[in-house]
Amino acid sequence: MHSTTFLLLTGALVLPYFTEGAVIGCAADDEEPWSYHGKTNGPSAWGETFSSCYGSNQSPIAIKTDETVIDADAGKLEMKNFGIPITKATIINNGHSAQITPKDDVARTIEVKGSVYTFQQLHFHWGSRYDQGSEHTLNGQRYALEAHFVHTNKDNAIAVVGVFFQESTHNNEGFQPIGDVLPSIPFKNDFSDLQMDLVLDELLPNNPSDYYHYDGSLTTPGCNEGVAWFILKGIKEIGDQQITELRNLYSTTKDQDYAGCKIVDNYRPLQPLNDRIVFETSN
Ligand SMILES: [Zn+2]
Repeated sequence: MHSTTFLLLTGALVLPYFTEGAVIGCAADDEEPWSYHGKTNGPSAWGETFSSCYGSNQSPIAIKTDETVIDADAGKLEMKNFGIPITKATIINNGHSAQITPKDDVARTIEVKGSVYTFQQLHFHWGSRYDQGSEHTLNGQRYALEAHFVHTNKDNAIAVVGVFFQESTHNNEGFQPIGDVLPSIPFKNDFSDLQMDLVLDELLPNNPSDYYHYDGSLTTPGCNEGVAWFILKGIKEIGDQQITELRNLYSTTKDQDYAGCKIVDNYRPLQPLNDRIVFETSN
């Protein structure tokens, strides 16, 4: 009985790899300076090449609401101009994610405790299945997707606003300007202009000033520390067809052997909190 169960489980886990021409994983990943799933350059080895990745204030982390500290003067996270449509933007498949950079001249800013940061780009981390994909976890749960809104201030300090998305049978209309263009950028370094206006507000929860906050790092090499993280409490939805468009992107150029090289599970494993504190707003 026991061994039958074991065989069934093993078969289920191994089969998807062997059906793809006996290729296990993506060989081209190993030729990159870093990757998510390479044999030699995956997350546990990033620090060999990018020393900051071995630092003690790294991201992502597990957020546990019974260990957070209420920050009474956390203040509102004031997000300005996120409702103004982005009429010009580039979207690129950078081999690790899909990244959207506005090209209009609207300053979209966040302000917290007197510091003003300007929005630079938006990108995503997602899973191969609905129950994994987000980089941070909330009380042990991983969401299907995590959006990162990356900002910098005048001193080039970085603040990232993170938003969790759960997979839904309903499309998120706000994501559609991105989803429509994804099929035209299947390979690494492919890029395109967005064809429809993108309103960032529609990718944010209704109450964006309700958040968890901690000091961490970039979640990709070089893993630079000193990043102010704001993980919003409100959870958004993304359509299963929309997230499928992300799962169909490749981590390789079209000239490489791209079998088995879909960008999925592009999230870094959880990093130790060490002596940091996760704060949360009280509202
Ligand atoms: Zn990110």
